[in-house]
Amino acid sequence: SLKGKTAIVTGSTSGIGLGIAEELARAGANVVLNSFTDSAEDHTLARHIAEETGAGALYVQADMADADACRALVAKAAEAFGGADILVNNAGIQHVAAIPDFPVEKWDRIIAINLSSAFHTTAAALPHMRKAGWGRVVNIASAHGLTASPFKSAYIAAKHGVVGLTKTTALETAEEAITANAICPGYVMTPLVEAQIPDTMEKYGMTREEVERDVILARQPSKAFVTIEQVAGTALFLCSPAADQITGTTISVDGGWTAL
Ligand code: NAD
Repeated sequence: SLKGKTAIVTGSTSGIGLGIAEELARAGANVVLNSFTDSAEDHTLARHIAEETGAGALYVQADMADADACRALVAKAAEAFGGADILVNNAGIQHVAAIPDFPVEKWDRIIAINLSSAFHTTAAALPHMRKAGWGRVVNIASAHGLTASPFKSAYIAAKHGVVGLTKTTALETAEEAITANAICPGYVMTPLVEAQIPDTMEKYGMTREEVERDVILARQPSKAFVTIEQVAGTALFLCSPAADQITGTTISVDGGWTAL
């Protein structure tokens, strides 16, 4: 049980992040939800998780593109629940364009949100983990942290960077009861993937089904989307005692993509 532990999940108002926050709360952890917005629904989401699981849940607004905000998120979590034991770096965005046409501001934003935020939150969380004598860093990278596709230069560079940051974090904490690992999912049907479908339909004159099968799942040998629950279950496993000696590595949850 993760009772008494505090889990921070960045970018957790939808998709994979929300699924991980729910899973960790069900396992007893107090969870801190995060996004860059500050709507009534954001706070309601946290309230519902608290009601359904009996764990503490709090929504903290913080823009993961902003270094100070990343660090403040960890400080607020520690203030609210007395620690920062589990850090799940999940916030991420995508933009698809060829390198010569890739907007510079999109490049900078993707590197900031998908990569640099994990550096800032890790820097802020490690002292809390050391004080508690236990910690887990779970970085949500991607199959694109291990292999590339055209037109996603910023995302793929950031995700490869996250894998490198994960290994370094693991080495700096290797003799302590702290682990750092990256989960590398293949395609999961979330708002992030959904957003790429209409453009692809138009670009290739395909139906939604054709885009899903022939474009998105083309490189996923299982021909099935990974589910949010499967990624969340992997995150929970990395927080369990069975994973005490798993550190500095990647776990692919990708239907065989990186075996190709
Ligand atoms: P999503 O769009 O459903 O969720 C992204 C979350 O990040 C949302 O809660 C959003 O509000 C938040 N977010 C966006 N910008 C932010 C910012 N500036 N500050 C704080 N929060 C911000 O996407 P998802 O598919 O659930 O993706 C979650 C993570 O999983 C990402 O890092 C993504 O790269 C990774 N991933 C997704 C897939 C997939 O197929 N969906 C595959 C591999 C890896």
